[in-house]
This record gives sequence, C-alpha cells and structure tokens, in this order.
Amino acid sequence: MRSLSEKIAAIAPSATIEISNAAKKMAQEGVDVISLSIGEPDFDTPVHIKEACIEALRRGETHYAPSTGIPALTKAIAEKLTRENGFSAQQDEVIVTCGAKDAIYEAMEAVLDPGDEVLILDPSWVSYEPCVRLAGAVARHHALSTGTFQVDDTLLEAVGPRTKMIVVNSPSNPSGAVLDEASIRLIADICRDHDLYALSDEIYEKLVYGKEHISLASLPGMAERTITVNGFSKAYAMTGWRIGYAAAPRPIVRQMEKVQQHTISHPTTFAMFGAVAAIEGPQDCVEAMRREFERRRGYLVPALRDLGYATAPAEGAFYAYVKVEGDDMAIARSWLQDAHVAVTPGAAFGTPGWLRLSYATSMENLKEAVGRIARV
Ligand code: PMP
Repeated sequence: MRSLSEKIAAIAPSATIEISNAAKKMAQEGVDVISLSIGEPDFDTPVHIKEACIEALRRGETHYAPSTGIPALTKAIAEKLTRENGFSAQQDEVIVTCGAKDAIYEAMEAVLDPGDEVLILDPSWVSYEPCVRLAGAVARHHALSTGTFQVDDTLLEAVGPRTKMIVVNSPSNPSGAVLDEASIRLIADICRDHDLYALSDEIYEKLVYGKEHISLASLPGMAERTITVNGFSKAYAMTGWRIGYAAAPRPIVRQMEKVQQHTISHPTTFAMFGAVAAIEGPQDCVEAMRREFERRRGYLVPALRDLGYATAPAEGAFYAYVKVEGDDMAIARSWLQDAHVAVTPGAAFGTPGWLRLSYATSMENLKEAVGRIARV
C-alpha cells in the first residue's frame, strides 16, 4: 500500500480527547471515575434556544443556507460585537462556522502560506498548533511567565522575520488567566510594529470572575488585522450544536468563505436559528451559569491550595491550572488509576509540570475528587 499523508501523520492526536476517552472507558468498565478533564459546561442548553431550533425545523429550515451563515445570525453577531466588544463589525465581516475550532482552522488556511510562522503563547490550547500545521505553516511557541500568565517584553524577542500571525486566547484554556490591559496593549503594539495578523480566541469571554475581558480588535489599528473567534459552546452550553464564528477584515472572511464553501458548506441551518435565539434572547442564563462556575471555582482553587498546590490565577474559563512536582503525565496517570480522578497533563498545553482540572462538573463531584486527590 502507498504511504499515507506525512503532514497528518506528524500531527499528534488531541491529548485532551485521548484522556477523556480513557476515563470514559474506565467508567464503562464500571469504575467510578470523576472526570475533571472535560472542556464543556455540564449544563443543558437553555430551553428558549432549543425551542427556536425546533421551531426552525418545524418551519422547514432544512435546506442549504448562504455559505457564511444565515443572514439573521451574521447580523446578530455583527451587532453583538459592535455592542459588546468595542469594535464595529459589519455583517459581511462575519462568518459562521462549525464551532470556534472550525473558525480557527479556516482562519489559518485563509491567512498562511507554507513557511509562514505563527506565534503561540504557552500554555496554549491543544488545537492551535495542529491547525497551523494543517495550513502548512510553522508554529513557534513562546512561554508566558508561569508566575503571572501575562505577556511581557520577552514576546518581542520571539518575533522573527517569518512571523505572520500571533494567536491570543483570553480567558485562557488551560490556565484560566485573563490578559490584562497592559498585556493586550503590548500584543497590539507588536502586531502593528511588525505587521502581524492576530487570531484572538475569545470563546470564554463570558466566563470571567472579577476581571474585565478586553477584545484585541478593540485596540486602535487592530480590527484591520485581527480575526476574532468566538462561539456558542461555552457561554450557552451548546458544545454539540457546533456553531462558532469569526469576525475579520473582508478579504480574510472572503478567503475563509472559500475554504468553507469547498469543505463544510456551512453549519447546520436549523442549528443556526438556535444561535440567533442565544444572542437575541435573555442573557440571564449565561450569568446564572457563570455564577455557578464562580461558586465551584471558589471551592476548588482554595481546596487545592490547602492541599499544598500552587495554582494559576483562575480568573476566567472553568479550569484550575495546578503546579505539580515531577512528571505531570505520570501524576495524571496515577490520579486516574489510583484515585479514579481524570485530569489533563500540562504537557498537552506545552507546559509540563502542570495539571488542568476542569470545574465544569457538579460541586459534589469536585468535593469527592479533592478528597480522593488528598488520599493519593
Ligand atoms: N478555543 C478554545 C480555547 C477552546 O477551549 C475550545 C473548546 N475546547 C474551542 C476553541 C473550540 O470550541 P468549539 O466547541 O466552539 O469548537
């Protein structure tokens, strides 16, 4: 048989999915596993969003839609960005994608050529580098300070002649850090000075605890070089719906649209009607979920510190990032085998020596997990 694609063979499978699969397998075998490795809200999608989708199905919204998404949704997204995110987006500067992940992949394809370099700030979410590589470009990693998880002047040294894009993710998966104004300004200065594109993944923007989320595109001169990625998975508990979006300058959106036209066409038509209801409907469901995450964080982070672990700031998203002594892979494996608690090793995010614990699970599970961790 002829060999398979070297490009794909060189890409590591998603470490986060592998670990949650191992935990699921143990659970299927009857082991009482508590999974803190999950990256999705444990809440159900709010009813009014589901009803809007069901109603769309009943109405017969079961056909192809425009490739950038149904007009009602691109309009609602453009208005949302203009209203909430401090930069003005027009409807034709928005593309609806199959989750934020698809927006990230399409953006890389749209902007990058082979040999271009993309700066990724570690710890970083697992799919940025594979998306860069799928587009034929090269990922360069820059380690953030694991004291502050903010950006400092050392980022400037990481910019090289081939750097074309920087990926920014605030609030961060996995660290939970929220970039402060000084960090965002520094990134914007570097992008302008070195003529870089920025991909700003703001999927956790609604999940912040006592800090303010700043959109990179809201800084002067940044909307014209930033691809703002967001979606419905985290804020509205809609992971399975697969609806995300990007807002970017028109030439980038047109390029992304071509990728979309020749691959997925567009996200599921009736699901997009649910997303319209999410944006245009009442937002108290988002705040209720945020408050519940905040309550769990208020338990988990101090409990881990009481056990002697140092943790990242946990200012946003729903992850506690925990410093461990020794091999994080081995520790994650032993927590799974001995304590039946599944967590994700920091090596998956480019920072060995850390573990990511998701608090997108019930308080009862968190308390039981902490008790088990204390006993290993
Ligand atoms: N970006 C980050 C930082 C994420 O954590 C995730 C989901 N784990 C995504 C993007 C992808 O989200 P979606 O479900 O919208 O594809």
